[in-house]
Amino acid sequence: MAEPKENLQMEKIVSLCKRRGFVFQSSEIYGGINGFWDYGPLGAELKRNVKELWWNAMTRQREDVAGLEATIIMSPAIWKASGHVDTFSDPMCDCKKCKKRFRADQLCEDQGLTLIKNAAGKFELPAGTKCMSCDSKELTEPRPFNLMFKTYVGPVESEDNIAYLRPETAQAIFAQFKNVLETSRQKVPFGIGQIGKAFRNEVTPRNFIFRSREFEQMELEFFIKPDEVVEAISGSVVTVPETGHPGEPQANWGWQAWHQYWVEERVRFYEGIGLDRSTLGFHRQTPAELAHYARACVDILFKFPFSKKDEQGNVVGDELEGIAARSDFDLSQHQRFSGKPMGVFDEELRAAWGKLPKEKQDDLWKRYYDNRKNYLTKSAKPDETPEQISQQATEDANGLAKGQYIPHVIEPSAGVDRLILALIANAYSETTETDAKGKTETTYVMKFHPRVAPIKAGIFPLLKNKPELLKKAQEVRDLLRPWMNVYYDEAGSIGKRYARQDEAGTPFCVTIDFDTLGEKPELLDTVTLRYRDDGKQERVKISELRDWLLSRIR
Ligand code: ATP
Repeated sequence: MAEPKENLQMEKIVSLCKRRGFVFQSSEIYGGINGFWDYGPLGAELKRNVKELWWNAMTRQREDVAGLEATIIMSPAIWKASGHVDTFSDPMCDCKKCKKRFRADQLCEDQGLTLIKNAAGKFELPAGTKCMSCDSKELTEPRPFNLMFKTYVGPVESEDNIAYLRPETAQAIFAQFKNVLETSRQKVPFGIGQIGKAFRNEVTPRNFIFRSREFEQMELEFFIKPDEVVEAISGSVVTVPETGHPGEPQANWGWQAWHQYWVEERVRFYEGIGLDRSTLGFHRQTPAELAHYARACVDILFKFPFSKKDEQGNVVGDELEGIAARSDFDLSQHQRFSGKPMGVFDEELRAAWGKLPKEKQDDLWKRYYDNRKNYLTKSAKPDETPEQISQQATEDANGLAKGQYIPHVIEPSAGVDRLILALIANAYSETTETDAKGKTETTYVMKFHPRVAPIKAGIFPLLKNKPELLKKAQEVRDLLRPWMNVYYDEAGSIGKRYARQDEAGTPFCVTIDFDTLGEKPELLDTVTLRYRDDGKQERVKISELRDWLLSRIR
């Protein structure tokens, strides 16, 4: 199985990942399996760190987010309600000559063309589209291919027992919304976060771990009051600028401010783990790109080595994370499909509503009614009549006076594996030097932010054959081990050991030498601490070492 080599930089990154044990091809000894990747010792640590940081930043460090860990296989009814059974597909086409299969939109994009969607909603290839493998123009018409992996639950392989591996973690959050609300003592606005595996039978997995068939997501569903409810309670809804952080959440924030807040919170998260704003890009989806129920969606992009350039020659970047304002679509769908109420009761709204002047009540009622009617019309089942829809929308809008509504949601949805690739690409640096004899040597340094680095410190006794040095070095290792991932290494010259840790991205190395043992009495129980990025060294007391390191890796 050959991963298409997009460019030299990617080739080098893939090779370093394998050589140093970040990422391996899944099932490699059997020739691999396309679209599946394993994380080796360093990759597994890196991934754990990333997930831990997300979980900390998004749940533990916040008053207003609770966590969830749901199953991968859920009732298939969830995927019917969410729309995945009917519409979660990519357009696929085949070359009639060489039989190669393509995602039609990518095939067009790779040739500078745009896939056409005709008036009936069907996809068509633009004139001139050719096979990227054999150049033939004999391609089948694009047809939808559902990306969900199917399986059967129980021993009987019948239609009734079909289940799906979840293609996203988000739906479990919506399905468990009421349980979490009731048990976490949270009130809207609040969020539910989840990290977990997702599966998509991608037509053409590519770009290493960027697009694979089994991957992990870190998703937050942040539930907010509809704008009409905010206005009823706070008098008005504030609008914030579309750039910059709007600051601490306020009671008069509607969906727009909350959306902007989460975009900026997520950028801060990326900056905090070493992805400078200049390495990122942003794409605000156009009305044509937006799902019919979405109010806005901003994709945070990272400039990967395979990312394409725009007409001005600037690298645009590819999606790391999408932050969508999804209205009340998700909870509404589950309410309709499950028959279970998904709305909340809000005492503040009930109290505020009673004090509003009649014109204000009518105005808010009408706006809420129109939004509900719009949703209900677009999501109507074939047997629903316009009268039934109007009646339902009326009931929903009447709920406002009783303090009832269906929360809206802002969804920051990130891919763990894409972030790992971004961190690896961002950290990668190589230097080639030629010595006096003309021999060239390339050294590699993975400049990970200390927070994500797989190993936080290398611990080296200066010499292997001095038991007192080994003993002391092992004491230092044991002192640090409960607090962070350290790597003890006594093999080879100090220079070689430094180089090995540089390639692993270890930000600090600690050397135990004769001064540590008291050769120079004033240096007794101190170690040499070396920084990865500039090779600078300083002396640190063993008694202060743990806190010195902790303050830099957290
Ligand atoms: P794309 O357009 O690139 O297929 P998407 O818009 O379908 O992605 P979402 O459904 O919004 O992606 O999923 C949220 C996040 O999950 C993405 O931003 C990405 O980080 C991650 N993700 C989605 N599909 C894959 C995949 N096949 N491999 C790895 N990560 C993925």
